[in-house]
Amino acid sequence: MTKKDILSFTLPELEAELTALGEKKFRAGQLYSWLHEKQVTSFAECSNLSKALIERLDAEYEIKRLKIIRKLESKLDGTIKYLYEFPDGERAETVLMSYKHGNSICVSTQVGCKMGCSFCASTKAGFVRDLLPSEILLQIYESERDSGRRVESLVLMGIGEPLDNFDNVMKFLTLLSSEKGKNMSLRHVSLSTCGIVPRIRELANMKTGLTLSVSLHAPTDEKRNAIMPINKRYDTAELIEACKYYFSQTGRRISFEFALISGVNDDAVTAKKLIKLLRPLSPCHVNLIPVNEIREREYRRSEKVREFQKLLTDSGINATVRRTLGADINAACGQLRRDSVSKNDKL
Ligand code: SAH
Repeated sequence: MTKKDILSFTLPELEAELTALGEKKFRAGQLYSWLHEKQVTSFAECSNLSKALIERLDAEYEIKRLKIIRKLESKLDGTIKYLYEFPDGERAETVLMSYKHGNSICVSTQVGCKMGCSFCASTKAGFVRDLLPSEILLQIYESERDSGRRVESLVLMGIGEPLDNFDNVMKFLTLLSSEKGKNMSLRHVSLSTCGIVPRIRELANMKTGLTLSVSLHAPTDEKRNAIMPINKRYDTAELIEACKYYFSQTGRRISFEFALISGVNDDAVTAKKLIKLLRPLSPCHVNLIPVNEIREREYRRSEKVREFQKLLTDSGINATVRRTLGADINAACGQLRRDSVSKNDKL
């Protein structure tokens, strides 16, 4: 019998499990806080539960763990990049970043990705599977355990498209923000999407308080179609309408990611089109990212990042350039997993 994945149960679900085992409801609260607040790795550590219950839990449930396959730590700024292995042998990356205001973590939501963005390493080896709520959560728990650092904020910007694994990601957010668990306010969470429009609207209706980051990378359908296949399903105009809706429902300003690629999207005409597109959405924020060069494509970093930024800010559009963290361990998103997958292939 495969054991049930206990870390993926929300508190009400755990209450239902334990009452089905003949336990009082409050026991679920105790167990939940052992699992998510104290983050125990075995049921035996739950000292206020009866021996009989611990045996029952051991027989029917498992507390999943992740294995660290690789760990790279930057000597420049302490950024740590982990390659984790899930119980079925699949792998994904997590990045722990230290800022003056605290530690932030970037987690993966899928093994591989279906979205096919031309500049992104995560999608090159294709899609394998969705991550479970517990597997997303464990990237935080294991990184905290290993590094001894406490994570205060989170970005869903690792491997995968979070809105393509909607239910598991929403459950993960419920677990993350639970008072009896890590208790992280969703105001400290950013979710990045390539633009799955119906899901953006659904998320807006849920009014979770999280920040929506939209990977825009080009302001016109012509340019966006060429680098992001999702644009052929939901075009730029639909995407901008959904962003307006998100802002109107939540009051949270949208953050747009724009990876500057030399000769592709870093010219003044593109900047002007971007300004025109985003003006109705102001106040919003543009995060300019010098593109990470990946092996599979000839894309080069733009040299015009500051010029591009100036054009935006001079027109009243708030724009910052993303600071490069961990430059000495730099591997573009998904590159660690790619490397480990291709090494295994050769064995
Ligand atoms: N699927 C989600 C989240 C994961 S990617 C999304 O598309 O938003 C996180 C961010 O990194 C996205 O903005 C993505 O477009 C960007 N990105 C991917 N590859 C990159 C590269 N080679 N250089 C710079 N940014 C990249």
